[in-house]
Parts: sequence; structure tokens; C-alpha cells
Amino acid sequence: MIPLIDLGAQQARIRNKIDAGISRVLDHGMYIMGPEISAIEDRLAKAAGAKHCISCSSGTDALILALLAKGLRPGDGVIVPSFTFAASAEVMPVLGAIPVFAEVDAVTFNLDPAGLPAALSAGRASGARIVGIIGVGLFGQPADYDAINPFAAAEGLWVIDDAAQSFGASWNGAKVGALASMTCTSFFPAKPLGCYGDGGAVFTDDDDEAEIMRSCRIHGMGKTRYEYDRIGMTARLDAMQAVILDAKLDIFEEELTMRQQVANQYADRLAHLAEVPQLASQATSSWAQYTIKLPAGCDRAIVMKTLADHDVPSAIYYPVPMHRQSPYSSYPVSADGLQITATLCGQVLALPMHPYLEAATQDHIAGALATAIAAGSASAATG
Ligand SMILES: *Cc1c(COP(=O)(O)O)cnc(C)c1O
Repeated sequence: MIPLIDLGAQQARIRNKIDAGISRVLDHGMYIMGPEISAIEDRLAKAAGAKHCISCSSGTDALILALLAKGLRPGDGVIVPSFTFAASAEVMPVLGAIPVFAEVDAVTFNLDPAGLPAALSAGRASGARIVGIIGVGLFGQPADYDAINPFAAAEGLWVIDDAAQSFGASWNGAKVGALASMTCTSFFPAKPLGCYGDGGAVFTDDDDEAEIMRSCRIHGMGKTRYEYDRIGMTARLDAMQAVILDAKLDIFEEELTMRQQVANQYADRLAHLAEVPQLASQATSSWAQYTIKLPAGCDRAIVMKTLADHDVPSAIYYPVPMHRQSPYSSYPVSADGLQITATLCGQVLALPMHPYLEAATQDHIAGALATAIAAGSASAATG
């Protein structure tokens, strides 16, 4: 089977630096908050064009730290797309707050700025005090914060960019990390910039928010050890993972270029078969996923089975929208009904994507997809 994401070719390039870095950590023994942490935070802040980087234990904890810094309280409401990974919405109920599900754009898969008024009124009608918006850079393309930020400002809301998938991308020349007042990312191994375990980070230009998050990731610690300024959690990145990130950052820009090249080659080979992903004119993507839309009426299960028969794995991100998941079913949903979200969940299919995907492999995938879509469409026609 062709791997959906291949981390092996990358590791071969950076293995020496990783081995040396891990040995260094084993020698000095400062596994938690060792010198590697502030070093990687400086590098990441520069890479993201932000004043502060607060590294932490996962992308989900990055969102929780950001919400703690924004002062989120039980009963507050936060607008978030329903077409996203669970963590984007999960962090609100974890803190006693309310996700309000909004519609996405059918082409970019991202929060549709035109749908925000309908989400805001549905949220307010439910009785929640709406305090913010979490946009998501789904599959690697940033959301349109040029439109989201002014709407939020006019309504007195803050904006957080969930860039777990879009770290490394840009909008109008500005990097992800500088598009919203706070940006959260994940270093889960399969993300564009991944470590070899769990990890994450928050980016902000705000000194006060940065201080709160640095405190909250160590139990709300104050200036002195074992004195606490606030309620926090344990949410640190560890020194071993910082070593991995340091090695991967060396080649990250180059890998982003390689990912774009892979995406271009896919578009050449697949555009006549299915709807290939499209970027807004202002956007570059970090291509966390390569997600196509199958033709209407094409049986996706048969497509996936046929692909697998040709050693091509595929995945559905995401089969069920968040507002239709049982733990989330009681939360407010935008008055527009999220029809686009529902349609996308039925049509999307992610193909193998990583910087080291070779043209010959893409030729094989394209051939298999042609056969698979023919099979899926024939079945729909007779079925
Ligand atoms: C992966 C992901 C997260 C969570 O990151 P973890 O490091 O797995 O906690 C949050 N939001 C989105 C959109 C993601 O894809």
C-alpha cells in the first residue's frame, strides 16, 4: 500500500541532527522546560511572524491556553465551523462554553464570512454571550481573516486562528501566525510541521496574553515556584520534541515548496476526473491534505474500495459534521442550516499527500482514481 503520509523519506534527511539533539538532552537531563524550549520558541515565532510563541503539549491544549488567555467563561459562545476536526469545537465545552456552528465556503472549505451574521444571531438567540470566532485553516489553506477580522471587530469579538493544518501557509503575503489576534497550531506527527509525539504552540503579539499562557501551561504558576496566580493546567512541550521540531524546521520551507509542486502535479492529473482543491487568490497552502470532491452521485465507498484494491489509501476528512455528532447535538447551529457542510461531508476524499510523493506514484494514483470513479459512478447509475 502507498502510505497516505510518508514520514520516512523526511527522517532520513534529518536523522543525524535528531540523534545528536536527543543525545544532548539525555546528557543534560532537563527534559521539561530545558534550553531547547526557549530556542525552538524563538525560531517558531520568527517563522510565524509573531512576537511570542508559547509552545505546549498539543494543538488542542494550544486552543485551551488561548481561550484561557481570552478569559473565556462558562456560558460564553464561540463561533466555529462545523466542517472541521473535533478539537476546534471540543475546547469550548471542555471550558463550560458553547460552540456555535457556522457554515463554510464550498470551494475553500473554510469559514464563510458571509455566514457569520446568521451564526451570530443563532448563537445570541440561544442565550449565549458570543465572545469570539475560531477560524480554521482546513487542509492547509488559511481562512479569509481579511473579512472575518472586521466583522469580529464590529461585533466586539476576538478571533483565534486554528492553524493546526495551515501552519506555514500565508495570505496576501502575511504568514499564518499573523492573520488573527492569536494563532494555535499542532505538531502532531501527520501535520505539515510535526514532531514525533504530541506538541503544539500558540502565537500572539500581545504581551499580557503571552504571560497568561506561559503561566497556564505550568498550573497557573506565578513568578515564584509553587505560588500560583491563576488556575492552569499541565501543557508543556518537552525537550525531546523540541529537538525534532528544530531539525524539521531546517527543511520546512523547502518541504512547503515540494508540497505545492505535488499539489500542482495532482491538479494536472486529476482535474478532469473530480473537483480538485482550489486556493483563494490571496492564499498559499501548507497542503496538510489533498482533498478532492467526487462527482455528485458517485458512490464514495466503492471509490475507496477500488482505490484500496490498487494499493491507494484514501481517507474522509470529515464524514460527519460536528453539529451532527451526538455530544454536540444540543449546541446552536447557524440559521442557514449548514447545507454546504452536509454536502461536503458526503463528497470529500483525501488522497496521499506529503512532500516526497513522486510523480510516478501520482501517475499510479491518477490511473486508480479514474477506474475507481468509473466504478463508483456505474454503481450509482444502476444502484
Ligand atoms: C489536529 C488538529 C487539532 C488538534 O491538534 P492535536 O495536536 O491533535 O491536539 C486542532 N484543530 C485542527 C483543525 C486539527 O486538524
